[in-house]
Amino acid sequence: MNEKLAINGGKKIRDTYLSYGRQCIDDNDIQEVIKVLKGDFLTTGPSVKKFEDKVASYVGAKYAVAVSNGTAALHAACFAAGIKEGDEVIVSPMTFAASSNCVLYCGGKPVFVDIDPKTYNIDVSKIEEKITKNTKAIIPVDFTGQVADLDKINEIAEKYNLTVIEDAAHALGSEYKGNKVGTLSHMTEFSFHPVKPITTAEGGMIVTNDEKLYQRLELFRTHGITRDKGLISHNEGPWYYEQIDLGYNYRITDVQCALGSSQMDKIDGFIKRRREIVGKYNIAFKELNDFITTPYEAEFSNSGWHIYVIKLNLDKLKVSRKEIFEALQAENIGVNVHYLPVYLHPYYKNLGYKRGICPEAEKLYSQIITLPLFPNMTDSDTNDVIEAVKKVIMNYRK
Ligand SMILES: *Cc1c(COP(=O)(O)O)cnc(C)c1O
Repeated sequence: MNEKLAINGGKKIRDTYLSYGRQCIDDNDIQEVIKVLKGDFLTTGPSVKKFEDKVASYVGAKYAVAVSNGTAALHAACFAAGIKEGDEVIVSPMTFAASSNCVLYCGGKPVFVDIDPKTYNIDVSKIEEKITKNTKAIIPVDFTGQVADLDKINEIAEKYNLTVIEDAAHALGSEYKGNKVGTLSHMTEFSFHPVKPITTAEGGMIVTNDEKLYQRLELFRTHGITRDKGLISHNEGPWYYEQIDLGYNYRITDVQCALGSSQMDKIDGFIKRRREIVGKYNIAFKELNDFITTPYEAEFSNSGWHIYVIKLNLDKLKVSRKEIFEALQAENIGVNVHYLPVYLHPYYKNLGYKRGICPEAEKLYSQIITLPLFPNMTDSDTNDVIEAVKKVIMNYRK
């Protein structure tokens, strides 16, 4: 006999709701933020540069530009890459809308290339057929923290003279062939939203090894305004600056960067704990392998595990993803779904994108559920998730 599901009036696996992701803030983080609040600079001060240097040195990049959020970082990267009206940019559909909205912000056209059904990242064998004379860039996404096949992507980019903007919002600390994400593309974007590998509440960054791109990113962060003697047309005095391009106010604050620097001191521990929990999930779910597929990781990737996505084998289950999702929620397990393929959002449909562009991504979307995963999850939390998944799957198996 199966245990009665909470959704059918049975006892819940846990009394309190376990969210799918959550920041880890400790007293040290709080003290670092307070120091800045008591100091001279609230917005661009020394903490911004310190945080940029910390992330740059962690990933091994020469330059870093911290901005107000990851979406602003992607927008800045598209600007730096020179994306403008009429340009096409190759994007993975299995991502948050920001990965392709940044192309639209610049007047460009996102061109979606289907995913590899094993890794869920952009299928590198399908990129070239989508390249036209208007293609200017590729935005691979390191979905879940698993790194996209960057060697292949860079090879294609070089052949067609394209800029690679890596959306590594999930992947700070992830590795590709033993190298940390951050120097493997022309520009790499990170997000510091609370559920991401580290947090600044809101925040984002672009890292690059290219000085020209770095200058463009800095300009874009502050209205397109500069005091750089090499960039202004002439100099009228010590007060003088010029706006030489149309940028935005995408600055991040010193307060946020103090939190970010403090979080960077703990990132390796965060990732270690995420990997531990993923290891427990993988072992526990082996007995369910007729019903669910656990994440596959390509041998070139060493993921920092931003999220843990299971894929349901719907042929072996009596219900759809929706019923399983609702049953897990009723057990107080904070499941989620990442993501609706971007072009299926009404805004994109109105732009003319149609169902069927990326069949693998659409199929995957109907099968996936994201389970809770964050560094402060206890072993008991982890076991609750495992027990709930087993309970629900066993109830709904054919
Ligand atoms: C979170 C996220 C972003 C955007 O980051 P924000 O900091 O929330 O603006 C971009 N791409 C992906 C894949 C993300 O998960």
